[in-house]
Amino acid sequence: MSVKDRILQWVRPEVQALSAYHVADASGLIKLDAMENPFDFPAALKAELGVDLRDAAINRYPDPDAGAIRTALRELYSLPASADMLFGNGSDEIIQILAMAVAGPGRTILSVEPSFVMYKMIATFIGAEYVGVPLNDDFQIDAQTTLDAIKRHQPALVFIAQPNNPTGNLFDDETLRQIVAASPGLVVIDEAYTAFTNADYMSWVSEYDNVVVMRTFSKVGLAGLRFGMLFGAQEWIEQLNKVRLPYNINCLTQNAVLTAIRHFPEFVKQTEALREQRSWLSAQLDGVAGVTVYPSEANFILVRVDLPAKSVFSEMKRRGVLIKLLDGGHPKLAGCLRLTVGSHEENEAMLKALSGALAAVR
Ligand code: PMP
Repeated sequence: MSVKDRILQWVRPEVQALSAYHVADASGLIKLDAMENPFDFPAALKAELGVDLRDAAINRYPDPDAGAIRTALRELYSLPASADMLFGNGSDEIIQILAMAVAGPGRTILSVEPSFVMYKMIATFIGAEYVGVPLNDDFQIDAQTTLDAIKRHQPALVFIAQPNNPTGNLFDDETLRQIVAASPGLVVIDEAYTAFTNADYMSWVSEYDNVVVMRTFSKVGLAGLRFGMLFGAQEWIEQLNKVRLPYNINCLTQNAVLTAIRHFPEFVKQTEALREQRSWLSAQLDGVAGVTVYPSEANFILVRVDLPAKSVFSEMKRRGVLIKLLDGGHPKLAGCLRLTVGSHEENEAMLKALSGALAAVR
């Protein structure tokens, strides 16, 4: 028996069937594939960041509760007094914590599809059932189908990305309220893109005892730090904390997050610039023949091309621009590409590469 066959005897079949989360090599390319903020840490703050990192006690374990961040965020987000918080190595880790604590074998995680792929992947990691309820053709939630699925599957955990990735749209408030009311278990409102929309569900954390809100610093300029946040009733956080690994937020991240929070208006300025770029880019894309543009409340725009999307993607890459190819994944995303909103110069380069690619493929 080969080494590989011997190893495979012991790897769970559902894990064997997975593909590892793929990150494309972006070297030498304009990187518009991963919803990163194109702007570097503000130059004026770099010296301060340097001092804060220098002063981190790296010989010691970090503060297990990240207490200073806790205090700073309570103010930054005007948290309801009854709410508490939990932090993760990116919100990806929080999805895993939620799944381990609430779902598990014999229980169900439900989301809509297409949406963020980690909900399903993590359900598989932990041996939970996963149910993906299809969105409508305009990527809105089909309320009746979703409520029926909740009734039938009685999910322990429901994930709703608001706005949704990869479609970019917001779901209707009233439909979300119906989902919360119908759900027997916990509903997670994943506000990863909250900086790019005026929608805000933080008050639902005190309004409903089965809602928690998840956020991340990844999209506002701190993706490299890996810092995600969960906000919910103290009773939820107390239970979820039991499956969080000790010291999951390292001391360099803790110090850098504090530097960033102290200067949060700088990051807000950057996100405002990106919102303006989003409007400009949408309007430009609307004028490109053969491209359907979907409305976005996030820092990316979903488009559908009337040509083989894989070829358009490759031709754009050949022209130096990396975007995300969605065609080939969920059937509702046939012909779709996801364009992260970059700086004005990057967006112009992307539009040029797109036009060139469309002409080459056509
Ligand atoms: N939720 C959604 C909806 C996302 O799109 C992403 C990132 N693509 C995440 C969560 C994870 O973000 P992070 O782990 O960087 O905090």
